[in-house]
Formats: sequence, structure tokens, C-alpha cells
Amino acid sequence: VLKTQESNGYVWYSEHMMSEKIRDRAILSRFSDALSRGEVQIYLQAQVAADSRRVIGAEALSRWVCDDGRVIPPAMFIPILEEHGKIWQLDYHIWELACSLLKSWQGSEDFADYCISVNISVKDIYYLDLYEVFTHLVEEYKIDPAKLELEITETVFMDKPKEAILLIQRLKEYGFRIAIDDFGSGYSSLSFLKDIQADILKIDMGFLRKTEHQERSRIILRSIVALARELGMPTVVEGVETSQQVHDLVKIGCDIFQGFYFSRPIPVADFETRFRAGEIRPLRMKSGAA
Ligand code: C2E
Ligand code: MG
Ligand code: MG
Ligand code: MG
Repeated sequence: VLKTQESNGYVWYSEHMMSEKIRDRAILSRFSDALSRGEVQIYLQAQVAADSRRVIGAEALSRWVCDDGRVIPPAMFIPILEEHGKIWQLDYHIWELACSLLKSWQGSEDFADYCISVNISVKDIYYLDLYEVFTHLVEEYKIDPAKLELEITETVFMDKPKEAILLIQRLKEYGFRIAIDDFGSGYSSLSFLKDIQADILKIDMGFLRKTEHQERSRIILRSIVALARELGMPTVVEGVETSQQVHDLVKIGCDIFQGFYFSRPIPVADFETRFRAGEIRPLRMKSGAA
């Protein structure tokens, strides 16, 4: 057991916790540098329409690409940035990259119709006026807000439900597309559906995983898709990994797929080579896909 001094009292840590703390500090202290050096990038994961089997857009997922080529996934840094009040810096950077990409796709034959979705952290609403931020971004980059999809999870609404509902309404009225992310993984899903008029429902991939509750998962998934349809919301199912899943999901009426079966998240340049004009072309993966 190691002893460290924390503010004015003493706190005891096991060696394991200590090494975690050291790792967190290292990530925090290198993060700002990484941002300014352009090491924090977006990888794109295709979204595929169930009917046409064509790519209609992509989710922008953050990756920390170190100068030695290592790619650090968001699970390694997002919780730490959230805990230390820095997630908004990452998110703002990612949103800017997404807007700049949408701008570069404008008028292109292949990508002009694609939407890009970005993630919003529950912590962002404490640091940013999201309405100001997003409306300024699309004005600055002169892009159509309908091409930028904002993914929110129900956790965003836990602390300040009224404010959050109003915020979403205003963003929607401005023309942004609103997606509910990881639906079904939280606790208050149904009242959330009542209060938020989202454009898209992204269903948590937990319902697709093989568990002892598989049959129940399938029933719930089918009901969510039916419910979303009645509410006028297309569904995205995340985590699609097999052709069997695609087959089953088509049968229950799911609208859009996102998953390793079609593509992992890949660097923007690879995405642009692989998914021209909606077509899904096979491409031998280089390293860097994660
Ligand atoms: P998410 O928003 O639900 O994104 C989908 C995650 O599922 C991605 O993980 C993606 O790689 C993974 N995924 C997609 N298809 C499959 C599949 O077929 N099988 C499996 N096993 N996984 C699949 P990723 O990129 O590691 O991101 C994890 C989470 O980190 C995201 O979940 C999102 O909540 C968060 N995140 C990522 N980028 C950002 C960001 O820029 N800002 C914020 N605030 N959060 C982010
Ligand atoms: Mg997401
Ligand atoms: Mg999700
Ligand atoms: Mg998520």
C-alpha cells in the first residue's frame, strides 16, 4: 500500500489504484498537447440503409492516434476527461472535425448526401451552451444542420431534464437531426421517448449479444423497432456483426445498420476510398482500423 498526500488530508491507495491514478494523470497531461498536435482524430463507421444496402452516412468516433502509430480507443480516455472536466474540449474538437469534413463533402459527387453523427457527453452541458456552439459551427462552416446528427443518451437528461428537453427542442427546430444513442441501456427509456421528439433511435447493441437471455432480447428488440416506427422514428441497430443478424433485423423492420459486419470505424481517408456514392466496396484493411 502506498501513501500519497491529497489536498490537506492523507489518502491511501492500493498499488493497483495508484498505477491507475498515474495512468490517468499521464493521459490528462498529454491530452492538450495531443489535441493541438492533431493526434485526436475521427474515425468513421458507416451506416447502411436496410432497404437499399447503401451507405447513407457515418458516425464520427474519436481516436487518439499517437505519433508512433498506436491508436488509443475512447474508452481509455473519455471517462478520464469526463471526470476531470475536459471532455468538452475533446467533443468540441471532434464536432469541428465533423463539420469541416461535411464542408469538404459539399458538392462532391460521392459524399454530398451523407450525414455525420457526433456524440455528446452528459458533461458537455455543464461547460458549453450547446445551442450556441452548434449553431455557430454550422454557420462558420456553412453546412446544412440536417447533415449533422447529434447523438444524445438519456444520461444527458438525468440532472437537468427540463433544460435538456428545451435544448433538444431548440436544436431540432434549428434543423439538426437528433438521435437517441444506446437506447435501452439506461433506466428511464420510455419517459425519455415521450419527452424527446428525436429523429432517430439508435438501439443499444446489448440486445444483439449472445446471452442466456437471447430470446427475451429478440422480443424486446422487435418491440422497440415497432414502437419507434409508430412514433415515426427510424431505427439504427448498432453492433451488427453477422449476416444472420442482418437477415433477422430486416425481418423485424430495422431501418439502418451500423456494425463490424459492414465496417469497423476507419480513418476518414480509408472511408472515402471504400464508400463512394453509397457503394460498399471491399477493401483490404490496413493497420489503423480499430
Ligand atoms: P457509441 O456512441 O455507442 O458508439 C458505438 C461504439 O460501438 C463504437 O465504439 C463502435 O466501434 C462500437 N461498435 C460498432 N459496431 C460494433 C460491432 O459490430 N461490434 C462491437 N463489438 N462494437 C461495435 P468506440 O468507438 O470504442 O466508442 C465507444 C463509445 O465512446 C461510444 O459509444 C461513445 O459513447 C463514446 N465516444 C466515442 N467517441 C466519442 C466522442 O467523440 N465524444 C464522446 N463524448 N463520446 C465518444
Ligand atoms: Mg454514438
Ligand atoms: Mg451507441
Ligand atoms: Mg454511447
